[in-house]
Amino acid sequence: TVNRLPEIVESRADLPIMKEEYRILEALDESDVVVICGETGSGKTTQVPQFLYEAGYCTGEHEGQSQQIAVTEPRRIAAMSVSQRVAHELNLSDKEVSYQIRYESTATRMTKIKFMTDGVLQKEIESDFALRRYTAVVIDEAHERSMHTDVLIGLLSRNNVPESRRTPPLKLIIMSATLRVEDFVKNQRLFPTMTLPVIHVDARQYPVTVHFAKHTLVDSDPTAAVVKKVSQVHRRLPAGGILVFMTGQSEILDVCRRLREAFPSRSTPAKVASPKVEAETVEVKDVDTEVEFSGALPGDEDASEGEEEDMDEDESVGRERSHDGAKPGAFSVTEGAAEPLYVLPLYAALPAKMQAKVFAPPPPGHRLCVVATNVAETSLTIPNMRYVVDTGLVKDLLFDEYTGVQRFDVSWTSQASAAQRAGRAGRVGPGHCYRLYSSAVFQHDFQKFSEPEICKLPADGLVLQMKAMGIEKVVNFPFPTPPAQIALQRAEKLLRQLNALQDDGKITTLGKAMAQLPVAPRFAKMLTLARHYKCFDYIAAVVACLTVKVRMVELFLPAAHASTSVFHSRALGGGADAATLLAAVGACDFGACSQFSFCEKMLLRHKAIVEINKLREQLDRQGELLDTQAEQAEDTKTRSLPPLQPPTAAQLETVRQIILAAFPDHVARLDADASRADDPMKPYICTKVPEPVYIERQSSMRDSNPEFIVFMSLRQGTKRTYMQGCAMIDR
Ligand code: ADP
Ligand code: MG
Repeated sequence: TVNRLPEIVESRADLPIMKEEYRILEALDESDVVVICGETGSGKTTQVPQFLYEAGYCTGEHEGQSQQIAVTEPRRIAAMSVSQRVAHELNLSDKEVSYQIRYESTATRMTKIKFMTDGVLQKEIESDFALRRYTAVVIDEAHERSMHTDVLIGLLSRNNVPESRRTPPLKLIIMSATLRVEDFVKNQRLFPTMTLPVIHVDARQYPVTVHFAKHTLVDSDPTAAVVKKVSQVHRRLPAGGILVFMTGQSEILDVCRRLREAFPSRSTPAKVASPKVEAETVEVKDVDTEVEFSGALPGDEDASEGEEEDMDEDESVGRERSHDGAKPGAFSVTEGAAEPLYVLPLYAALPAKMQAKVFAPPPPGHRLCVVATNVAETSLTIPNMRYVVDTGLVKDLLFDEYTGVQRFDVSWTSQASAAQRAGRAGRVGPGHCYRLYSSAVFQHDFQKFSEPEICKLPADGLVLQMKAMGIEKVVNFPFPTPPAQIALQRAEKLLRQLNALQDDGKITTLGKAMAQLPVAPRFAKMLTLARHYKCFDYIAAVVACLTVKVRMVELFLPAAHASTSVFHSRALGGGADAATLLAAVGACDFGACSQFSFCEKMLLRHKAIVEINKLREQLDRQGELLDTQAEQAEDTKTRSLPPLQPPTAAQLETVRQIILAAFPDHVARLDADASRADDPMKPYICTKVPEPVYIERQSSMRDSNPEFIVFMSLRQGTKRTYMQGCAMIDR
């Protein structure tokens, strides 16, 4: 029995999905797979797990633990936030309604409902294909088409093939916003033997008037455009929350600060900020150093600092300064003209307590304004929004075809997600959506739908994981949208080169070990070799740097590019750019890197260093497992790593050879005949691209030009193609 608080009983009653409880449970009795499709905010995520719980899905036991309902989310922020909400609604503790994400978990033996990221469940399937501890799996946000979600749907759909049925059957519930469900429902490969029952949740949706900008306003300065539009809405339009869609943390905090200054709380004048606001302001400074892509638009290559060969050093400093928000005339607001605005940020890295604030009503006399990433598009529903301000931008995951390393870049979102964003304004009454781009741009430059992640990410990691799960013919796997054949073939070829696969495509022992590591296969290869050649700590540091920040330049603050103080480590070179990374990591270890001020002195990005060290610790733990192959207890306490000593010449040589072994197809030779005396940059020839390639500006090998080089990735500049992460090869 459930003991809900009276106010919860009341707020639940209003949700459209409540009318469907009976239909959903009945459909699940008849069919092992059910699709639930409904408008964002209709109650899918918070209520469906409760329906299952109340219907007795968690009453049994499995190996001394309570049987569980698994709910997967593509985003960590949603897994954490929703688990707390559902625990509260059911009046249970986080021991019973828990979450599990990559680095942390609240799950216990008593856990009944577990919210988890889709990647975490995929890992669990690797060790227990039948998922016996669960009675039901709810795949939430299927329309987001994250890679792990697609793989999970493919894997779990096979439970319906009679020969792999388990008893009692595992129930699968696929939940989606009202977008492109056909990819799952009408997919003969996924569900050949059945027609899936689809339950549509009818949600009241009020009309939303969409206003396009005459000219696209976010081209030059999205932050200023947003501040101006929000100010107009706030001063001129009747009550109702404002929801802003932007790209990332630094831009969001910038907007929040400027809006708070423009519309201060009456009780707390702008200049004397409350401690709470102060804390965030400090954070603003912290991440301001990270502002790099904030002005970037698709095709706007010059917008990221340090990127271009002949970049003017002064310019990068000037750019950095402009993010202080001290730009006069960027917008003008009449002070004190309007009621105060209660401005809250919302993005993935925000502490959970701060995230939760968006669900509470604003202080009396204040209008609520939430400035969010696209996490507010469908994953989290913020109540009482009537106005949406949409930049149309999204920070998207792109990958480097050559290394398979992923990174974020800013581009236009799709027409479908723009529609979702607009829809957020019509939940409580008729609303308005202000798009800061023109309708021509929307028509011509926006894709209809966002591409599924599985078609965008490198396939080598995917193929390795599937092989590790015993799926030999990856081409035959029932993907909701299959990745390109050529991408799969290329991935298999690379994995064979790395000896992760045999010639016949079967996974090797090495491949199995590599699949356990949470990094791209080439890096996993480096780590396994490093274990063997006793330089694990060095390779782990290099791999962590490259996984967290793809490009070495991004590890350093822009000012570092201008100053010789950090790049003097170039002189330290050692014939590999990896040596520069090692110098930076080592310096941080010895200089108490956890301190912001130290990093600042070293001109290093503090946040990157913190993440790098988290990953180093994780790799260290998993590296030990590689050694012993023993089943070690999962909860080996995190021990802190000893500081990294400077590598000896012999160790650096090993590092270089390991890089070569992981990038055997990334070798370039100096083209002495084609080099010109008046050009300090010497052309190289490689097999990856037809044109000559050059050593990037930041490389320690820039001046020595060794005859043979191994590189980690190629980058297309405006004029030339550059090799990044170079190491020299001895002959
Ligand atoms: P859906 O998954 O269909 O988009 P949800 O279950 O996420 O819908 O949301 C249902 C309702 O629950 C929404 O009105 C939302 O505002 C509310 N809600 C969700 N999370 C919280 C929370 N942490 N605190 C308060 N209300 C919440
Ligand atoms: Mg939801």
